[in-house]
Amino acid sequence: MTYLSTRDAAHKATAAQAIVTGLAPDGGLYVPQSVPSLDIKGMQGQSYQQVAFNTLSALLEGFDENALKEAIDLSYGANFNHKVGALVSLSQDLHSLELWHGPTAAFKDYALQLMPRLLVQAKEVTGNTQQTLILVATSGDTGKAALEGFKDVKGTGICVFYPNQGISKVQRLQMDTQEGQNVAVYAIEGNFDDAQQGVKEAFSNEAMARALAEKNTALSSANSINWGRLAPQIVYYITSYLKLCDAERISYGDPVDFCVPTGNFGDILAGYYAKQMGLPVGTLICASNKNNVLTEFFETGLYDVRREFYKTSSPSMDILISSNLERLLFHASGNDADRVKSWMSELAEDSCYQIDDATLSAIQKDFAAAWTSEAEVATTIKDTMAQYNYLCDPHTAVALHAAQHVKRDEKRPVVVLSTADPYKFSGKVLESLEETVPTDEFEALDKLHDVSGLPIPDSIRLLQAKEVRFTTTIPSSDIQKVVQNLEV
Ligand SMILES: *Cc1c(COP(=O)(O)O)cnc(C)c1O
Repeated sequence: MTYLSTRDAAHKATAAQAIVTGLAPDGGLYVPQSVPSLDIKGMQGQSYQQVAFNTLSALLEGFDENALKEAIDLSYGANFNHKVGALVSLSQDLHSLELWHGPTAAFKDYALQLMPRLLVQAKEVTGNTQQTLILVATSGDTGKAALEGFKDVKGTGICVFYPNQGISKVQRLQMDTQEGQNVAVYAIEGNFDDAQQGVKEAFSNEAMARALAEKNTALSSANSINWGRLAPQIVYYITSYLKLCDAERISYGDPVDFCVPTGNFGDILAGYYAKQMGLPVGTLICASNKNNVLTEFFETGLYDVRREFYKTSSPSMDILISSNLERLLFHASGNDADRVKSWMSELAEDSCYQIDDATLSAIQKDFAAAWTSEAEVATTIKDTMAQYNYLCDPHTAVALHAAQHVKRDEKRPVVVLSTADPYKFSGKVLESLEETVPTDEFEALDKLHDVSGLPIPDSIRLLQAKEVRFTTTIPSSDIQKVVQNLEV
């Protein structure tokens, strides 16, 4: 199966090349030329790992089947507390796909537990013998998920930079106590933009690239536009649908809607690919927070970032440019790379673009969109507890509210993707439940435990007792120096 660049359909790559390089040379994203169809009905009764293997082997031609199987088994076993793909039914037609039982308590573990192993295999397939050094600038969650995914993965090293302002105590401890022989963590003086700017400069520093090449090392990123991060997310759409069949809530073939709290558009796009592969998906509902650029886009076809940026209680969705949307534009325009390229340059130059009517109506066949205000996040957390005795985090609340208010066929079951453990956001959750919030984050965890009775995940509960390994804060201008001298 061949992959193309969204900005140049003549540029072709294998799955392994797409994963090793991440981005096409013209700045486009890699997409499958044609999406393979799967015998999903025949997968009924299979384990998560079997469904993952059947799905991913269709998408990753050229990979060794035994190695792929082993990577999948290691990625989705005990490290997910054996709750991989857990689906909780709130009512007959409203279901929560809990994607946060992995090692860092957020859904990014699904991609980042497997992607490093896919990268190792992709390097073998392409004959690449370089050491891969992953650089990450993080506002919190991605950094920890990437550290857990890459720790002790052979042929790789990872260095994470987080801002010393604006990150929670739990998030900081999660990273500062990171285990593994090939990991490094630094705090940067400043905010997230300072950290990101420093890492961007490291990526574009040619002298440094040459110096690293002499040590047989190349820089790479674990960014969510890498096909190796997107593909693993297709699997849980399929398994959750099959679970609804198993539970006899639907018969195979009945359409099910999925509602997805969206930031960079990777998670929801995986649902689109699941549908292309044959899954009976009804509407994919794109749920946004107050940064609602995508809601406007799905309604009008205008993508317009000339607007205020808000910091909300669902920080992983505080994004104005959703990179993976470019992949949808490519497919919905009939693989028209020239048009995608011109929209992307309009976005870069004018901060907006308007798609044509034909592409918009193609998109509206599969997608609907809604956004949730901060006040509605709070009432949704409270009401969901009162009505269903179910505790949800602010990201999940954004989607639960959207699912219950967007215009859709209400007779259809809807699966809401629940992307973070509520304990990752104890303060906001307690406040929404109209409880007082202790200033100490660990006291807040205990309080939320008292209120909800839910177990605190070990990955958070045991943090206070873990050895702190990383304590260095540097100015962002030192990032390049640090990278050049890393011994990971
Ligand atoms: C990253 C993230 C999202 C958004 O997912 P995208 O693939 O970027 O759309 C939603 N919720 C949580 C908790 C996340 O970490």
